[in-house]
Amino acid sequence: MPAQTLVLLNQPSKDSAPHDPEAKPFRFADPSEPQLSVLDLGATRGDGIFESISVGSGHLQALEHHLRRFAKSAATLDLPAPDIDTWRSAIFTALGALDLADEAYVKAVMTRGIEGDGRPTGWVYAVHAPDFSKARAEGVAVVLLDRGYRHDVESTSPWLLAGAKTLSYAINRAAFREAARRGADDVIFVSSDGIVLEGPTSTVVYRIGNHFFSPGTGLGILDGTTQASVFRYLESLGMTTSFRLVGPEELLQAEAIWLVSSVRFAAPVRSIDGAPFAIDAEFTRAINDYLKALRE
Ligand code: PLP
Repeated sequence: MPAQTLVLLNQPSKDSAPHDPEAKPFRFADPSEPQLSVLDLGATRGDGIFESISVGSGHLQALEHHLRRFAKSAATLDLPAPDIDTWRSAIFTALGALDLADEAYVKAVMTRGIEGDGRPTGWVYAVHAPDFSKARAEGVAVVLLDRGYRHDVESTSPWLLAGAKTLSYAINRAAFREAARRGADDVIFVSSDGIVLEGPTSTVVYRIGNHFFSPGTGLGILDGTTQASVFRYLESLGMTTSFRLVGPEELLQAEAIWLVSSVRFAAPVRSIDGAPFAIDAEFTRAINDYLKALRE
């Protein structure tokens, strides 16, 4: 069995015509061959959406949360609504053909398609996960970067698509390069009015005593599936969890901070802007063992 699989969707949305009226809902394709038109708006404008879903010991994790977020991102971009049942089947099919690995992930992508064609392009790609054991065990050095938007951007300026998981990740990658220039590994974005937001590919979770906090939704940031799983785990241990708006000064008062995301799971923060930060290695391992073992 291969270490990468690719499934192309014939009709990503019920509202749009299929690419081939005679064909099945989706089909396997060769991931090592070119499959996408150079005119696809996903490639030419980053106009589309995606989800990356963790796979632990062959099980898709938080799949329904990812699918809900996928549909919400589509609505935010005024894309045709994805046919969720077809996407779910395509995701299981791509994973089913993958050579089983301890950790893998499945990426689902839907673009606006070729300009003027009116049909979205959709594909699902399954692949083995990179090794994130170092970030999980030793933590990440983080810098705080101004995102340049106010924390209420999602309601004041919905056309900026803040809070949707769009394909336009060039800014997120640029933030990582800025972190590297400053000798760090990762970023926590802060709004222009001083509210802690999220990482370029992660959600911020922090601990004060037995209370755990995260910024929450409605702030132009992603509704994190991993954060939701981590909160469920913490609540099962009798800890309390809630959403809270804080500035960087208050975040620095936390006893521990994590950047949590699908595939990498929980990476403890070991410094912020060069100032060392304590990491709780044992507790982080417990969180990551839980995340890795998730069965749905
Ligand atoms: N915020 C952003 C901007 C992201 O890109 C991601 C994941 O890629 C997250 C948060 C974390 O989301 P999840 O835990 O669902 O992977």
